[in-house]
Amino acid sequence: MGPSTSIAQLKGVGPDSARKLASLGITTVADLIAYFPRRYDDYSQVLPIKQIVPGAVTIQIVIKQVSGRYVRRGMHITEAIASDATGSVRLVWFNQPYRERAIRLHEPYYVSGQYLLRRQRFAILNPSIELVSSFPLNTARIVPIYREAKGISSLQIRRLLQAVLPIIDQQPETLPDWLARDAQLMDRGAALRAIHFPDNAKQLSQAQTRLGFEEVFELSLASLLNKYELQRDMTISIPFDQQLARDFVAGLPFRLTDAQRRAVWDIYKDMAKSQPMNRLIEGDVGSGKTVVATMAAVMAMSRGYQVAFMAPTELLARQHAETISSLLEPLGMHLQVTLLTGSIPLKQKALAYKHISQGHAQCTVGTQALLQEAVRMPKLALVVVDEQHRFGVQQRKALMAKAGLMPHLLSLTATPIPRSLALTLYGELDVSILDSKPAGRQSIMTKICSPNSNSSIYAAIEEQLQSGRQMFVVCPSIADSETLQIRSVEKVFAELSKGAFRKWRIGMLHGKMKSDEKAQLMDAFVGHTLDILVSTTVIEVGVDVPNASVMLIEGADRFGLAQLHQLRGRVGRGLHQGYCYLMMSDSSAPTERLRALERSTDGFRLAELDLSLRGPGAIYGTMQHGQLDLRMASLNDVQLIAKARHAAQACIDRQLDLSNYPYLQDRVTRLRTVTNLN
Ligand code: ADP
Ligand code: MG
Repeated sequence: MGPSTSIAQLKGVGPDSARKLASLGITTVADLIAYFPRRYDDYSQVLPIKQIVPGAVTIQIVIKQVSGRYVRRGMHITEAIASDATGSVRLVWFNQPYRERAIRLHEPYYVSGQYLLRRQRFAILNPSIELVSSFPLNTARIVPIYREAKGISSLQIRRLLQAVLPIIDQQPETLPDWLARDAQLMDRGAALRAIHFPDNAKQLSQAQTRLGFEEVFELSLASLLNKYELQRDMTISIPFDQQLARDFVAGLPFRLTDAQRRAVWDIYKDMAKSQPMNRLIEGDVGSGKTVVATMAAVMAMSRGYQVAFMAPTELLARQHAETISSLLEPLGMHLQVTLLTGSIPLKQKALAYKHISQGHAQCTVGTQALLQEAVRMPKLALVVVDEQHRFGVQQRKALMAKAGLMPHLLSLTATPIPRSLALTLYGELDVSILDSKPAGRQSIMTKICSPNSNSSIYAAIEEQLQSGRQMFVVCPSIADSETLQIRSVEKVFAELSKGAFRKWRIGMLHGKMKSDEKAQLMDAFVGHTLDILVSTTVIEVGVDVPNASVMLIEGADRFGLAQLHQLRGRVGRGLHQGYCYLMMSDSSAPTERLRALERSTDGFRLAELDLSLRGPGAIYGTMQHGQLDLRMASLNDVQLIAKARHAAQACIDRQLDLSNYPYLQDRVTRLRTVTNLN
């Protein structure tokens, strides 16, 4: 038996349990070992009976007497008297008739459970009980609590782990010896034993540190290796043309913010090198990333190179194409912006293909489907990716195939990534942060409201509409689902058009509509032939309608913090004060998360909060915990991260040969495909 042994071969695991364990991701012994506890109950303090007080207690006793009886139909009670040198206490189990037979009289036991008053008499109710001579799993220790599945309890998981303890102890060290020594880490085998069955709190904390370190170390090493590999690629250097930059800025209807200038300058320096740029522009919604990206594009285009601009949705691709064209216009250089999305007519598409493959179309805007399009881009020198966290190795390879060389890469994101996470995950990226908003932007006024207070809210909204503004209404789903009380697009649309806002022009938009339908509606809203747009989160990223000042989010408690913050960024983009109403699904009290949104408009602070409340998965949506396989959730521990990153860099400096560390190599290879996000 070893780590790769199937779980089904363990004693007591039948086909049924094996299936249930598989639903928890446990199919081998190794999976079981890596199934870390969710939390712990501390039953480690063994007290004399005389000293116990109500609450969680552990005692070491012998049982002199035990009996069971039915008190009424369907209600069986087992009672035992447990004694030590200082006194006696009653143990009571409900509906566990086997207890009477199982208990051995006069043998020393540990008993752990809740000591409580029941019918005017104190007793320990439904306690765990184990022979002192056994290896106690559930008593007299810090007891691990696991995520359970139907039919698989923490107790069963503990038993299985106990059965594989010899294998746990034999787990080899996975880190280089010098590294484990330098970082003063507990042995891996000892850490794995202690994470499941710690002897004491200190040992548990050392185990958590060791395993957390390893996780962050692997991630850091993966992203650093990606970084260095990328630096070995060669690409086209695009020299900086100062006059062009000046002309472009002079044609803008506004002044660039200092943050925008810094970001543009970072980009120009990167693009002048013959190694591919790999830069992330991080800026809250409305911080003006599009113009920064356009300035990057114009530099490449003016030298006769091609640019590909990828947006998350067709809607945004269209909007970007328009924005970029209008930003380029004042230059009068005849730079052509081509839209290439799934829904454009075939004839137009064929023409676009031709222009692109001949290198005439300088800027192609589309969704990520651009990568699948069979069109070559012979002079592709710059790729801009808007709001795509998952732009990894595969996508990069697709780009290489199109251009022959690895182009410069610029990513834009409005998801403020907390520094700790950015350091670990984005180790291979250079980051420019747009930390100031364009002048004259007011911050959005945010208010949580409950469904029965909506009349006053509607009055405030009416006032906005009267003064010529527009409103977004966002709902958590498209159609009514029967089980959940979710406010759907269809329902809300029907309600508003018949009720409070019937005199206004209302449109409905959702992801299941055809793209030309969507485009028509969006055009109508942008052109202000609609006053209210009811939609799902399809409008989440990027849509720019400066005249829209109100955002009403239905069922706000169903959205994540980061998502709500992004949604709210859709309003208050022009000169008008923005308002965001967070409508609860019911009249229950809003969570701390929602309250935070009322108080703060700082995306970075909110992201930190989301990270601490819900873990990294909350920020990354689809790029979940799962793929990164973070089990210790150690991404909040700044010191540990610094230490792990340092160690990863040390490995690179020493040119560590990973093939000597097969386990580490395996992990890092896999993580490289995931962390190469940008
Ligand atoms: P995001 O960073 O969310 O992608 P956009 O690039 O869409 O933001 O810009 C939001 C709005 O701000 C646009 O209407 C854009 O024209 C405008 N804008 C960008 N930079 C500035 C600036 N420096 N001053 C004033 N308005 C700006
Ligand atoms: Mg944008």
